[in-house]
Amino acid sequence: MKSFVMEEIGETDIVEKEPPEPGPMDAILKPTQGLICTSDCHTVHGAIGDRENLTLGHEVVGIVDEVGENVADFESGDRVAVGAITPDWNSEAAQDGHSSQSNGALGGWKFANVKDGTFAEYAHVNDADGNLAHIPEGVTDHEALYTTDMMSTGFAAAGNADIPMGGTVAVFAQGPVGLMATKGASLQGAGEIIAVETVEKRKEFAKEYGADHVVDFQETDPVEEIMNLTDGKGVDAAIEALGTDQTFQDCIKAVNPGGTVSSVGYHGEGEFRHIPREEWGVGMAEIDIVTDLCPGGRLRIQRLLRMLENDRVDPTKMTTHEFDFDEIEEAFRMMDEKEDGIIKPLIHFE
Ligand code: ZN
Repeated sequence: MKSFVMEEIGETDIVEKEPPEPGPMDAILKPTQGLICTSDCHTVHGAIGDRENLTLGHEVVGIVDEVGENVADFESGDRVAVGAITPDWNSEAAQDGHSSQSNGALGGWKFANVKDGTFAEYAHVNDADGNLAHIPEGVTDHEALYTTDMMSTGFAAAGNADIPMGGTVAVFAQGPVGLMATKGASLQGAGEIIAVETVEKRKEFAKEYGADHVVDFQETDPVEEIMNLTDGKGVDAAIEALGTDQTFQDCIKAVNPGGTVSSVGYHGEGEFRHIPREEWGVGMAEIDIVTDLCPGGRLRIQRLLRMLENDRVDPTKMTTHEFDFDEIEEAFRMMDEKEDGIIKPLIHFE
């Protein structure tokens, strides 16, 4: 089968591989559509270390091709979505309420990390009953694709931000995760949402997804502007959706005492993240810093699909470009370079 792989750090290619086989609890998925993620780019640049001939991709929907003998709720031909994160539901971490961290830090992250990902003609899904979700009839493949990571991660950022009904929120960076965090904050009842972004198209989308103000960090200091907009108080919650030391520090500076910094950005570079001492109340301002990896699992995806079924959000407008699987290298290059205002490139497998 054709697979789009990271050959080594900095190198990608389309190669032939043997199709995967399901274990007793697993399923084999035939992808129909996928999305490239900036984290695929981080991986190729070496952010999680070297990988050899690893199939990329973790945002996918498709048709079940084959299931293991112990899989109860899915069969060949079912139209399904699978979360980017596929936890081991029997693990200690899952039982402890941290399913994404099953079997070690980030252990629920299997696709294109510890095993082949989803940019191939077939993909292996562990714990199929726990990790697949049927796509309801009224939801398109394209819509359902966004539940696998962008909605799940962005909404987790908003969910973890402990936003008071009517409270104030700043969302740093309006890439697809940041945009979904903005939408999530709006759905969670935020009274005022301040998005921080400089790219024109992303600024427009931020407004469409619920931002009341968009602060351009190229034109003004975002923390100063957030203070102006909140009468010097700072926001109740700041969401970090980029993954740089600067935005992390700005989040600490932007929240009020007792506020929450919710971090979901991929901190792909540098050795440390710094906490500004004074704005942190010399360690005593009761500022919570919460981190998360995309939540996975069947229930999570089913809930997000329900939101699509009932038109709570339209994530598909973030699809700025479309490609056939044969053109995936060009799609990847454009995503890596953020060329032509790209936000999410959609890959058609057939
Ligand atoms: Zn992703």
